[in-house]
Amino acid sequence: MPETTKFTLEEHLIPRTWYNLAADLPSPLPPVLHPGTKQPVGPADLAPLFPESLILQEVSQEREIEIPDAVRDVYKLWRPTPLYRARRLEKALDTPAKIYYKYEGVSPAGSHKPNTAVAQAYYNKEAGVKRIVTETGAGQWGSSLAFAGALFGLEVNVYMVRVSYNQKPYRRALMETWGARCVPSPSTETAAGRAILEQRPDHPGSLGIAISEAVELAVQREDTKYALGSVLNHVLLHQTVIGAEALLQMEMAGDYPDVLVGCTGGGSNFAGMAFPYLGAQLRGGKKVRVVAVEPAACPSLTRGRYAYDFGDTAHLTPLTKMHTLGSTFTPPGFHAGGLRYHGMAPMVSHVKELGLIDAVAYHQTKCFEAGVLFARTEGILAAPEANHAIRGAVDEALAAKEEGKPRTILFNLCGHGHFDMQAYIDYNSGKLQDQHYDENELAMALAGLPPV
Ligand SMILES: *Cc1c(COP(=O)(O)O)cnc(C)c1O
Repeated sequence: MPETTKFTLEEHLIPRTWYNLAADLPSPLPPVLHPGTKQPVGPADLAPLFPESLILQEVSQEREIEIPDAVRDVYKLWRPTPLYRARRLEKALDTPAKIYYKYEGVSPAGSHKPNTAVAQAYYNKEAGVKRIVTETGAGQWGSSLAFAGALFGLEVNVYMVRVSYNQKPYRRALMETWGARCVPSPSTETAAGRAILEQRPDHPGSLGIAISEAVELAVQREDTKYALGSVLNHVLLHQTVIGAEALLQMEMAGDYPDVLVGCTGGGSNFAGMAFPYLGAQLRGGKKVRVVAVEPAACPSLTRGRYAYDFGDTAHLTPLTKMHTLGSTFTPPGFHAGGLRYHGMAPMVSHVKELGLIDAVAYHQTKCFEAGVLFARTEGILAAPEANHAIRGAVDEALAAKEEGKPRTILFNLCGHGHFDMQAYIDYNSGKLQDQHYDENELAMALAGLPPV
């Protein structure tokens, strides 16, 4: 049989259900707490922010949740996404390992984010919502929601972290082309934004601040809801189409991964790939080593504390138990904007505590080094976030070489980097530097964790 490079599925094999890891966990997630009472929140507490259908998914214990036909119909624009065998990268590394990658960069916005943006837009539209407000870091989430809003006829307002807003004008143009309004955060449009600007007029912004702004606006109006691009259970749920397709494609390849690798910002693309495999393992299937790769400049899984914390800076969100650097922590301005978040998805944090996954942290120059090798062998120019996953996979392949033992590695290539060219300009001209957070600031942010 000739060697296959690209494993593709027909359209009718787009998954019909999302997979919910909660159904197979050996112990349940710690409850989400109300910030005032410190008691578990009920669905009513979340109603100002999300439509009921999404709140039910957030707390669901069902293993399989049906994907609405209207959502599957939009998924057809780019799903199923291809899974590749990275033969040229393997050769360049001279490794006995087999490397596979699932490519989510073929979506209209260029990343995995439309998998949940489309679902969230659909459920909001069904609930009669007119306007969705959200935050965005690098602009991947904002553009994905702008795209989804255009398809379902929803108004979309995006608060974009200021350093990214300045660094990535093309992402903003993409959002505006899809009909969204994009505002740099911190902004003067909210009390949360004005309070930050009063202290520091040139504040670079952070996802935590932008979330505060979006949440503040969402709770003020009946016809307006909030959407989050990562972290929450229902977002991770929607991303499991990635792993569900990969399971079929690896079967086509006649292989099963020994190692899974994904980059983690809030944890959604990582979970989307890993959870269907972890579920299979928890139900008695093959054990797989799962590696989360995070930026060393914002290392919530490897340096954070597993504690109750707020999702935002102004402390408007409920308290969730997660690996966190503290909600007041402002990460330095490195290029993988999608990974600049102080916390980690509660579900990913939980499986880390259960010992079901490992985590490693890398600085950005090492990630770009791997990303450039990947571009020169496999052709795809990856997003700075995705370069973290490539680095993780390359190091696994090099370890296999060192040990002289083959292994099968599957990683999630969560997006292309065509709107991140400044990062590549910096790297190619030798100007890209590792960014380090301030240890004192981290200590202070951790000391400021809410007492629960
Ligand atoms: C948003 C984003 C991330 C980080 O978010 P996760 O929820 O951790 O997936 C990573 N890569 C890309 C390309 C993104 O757009």
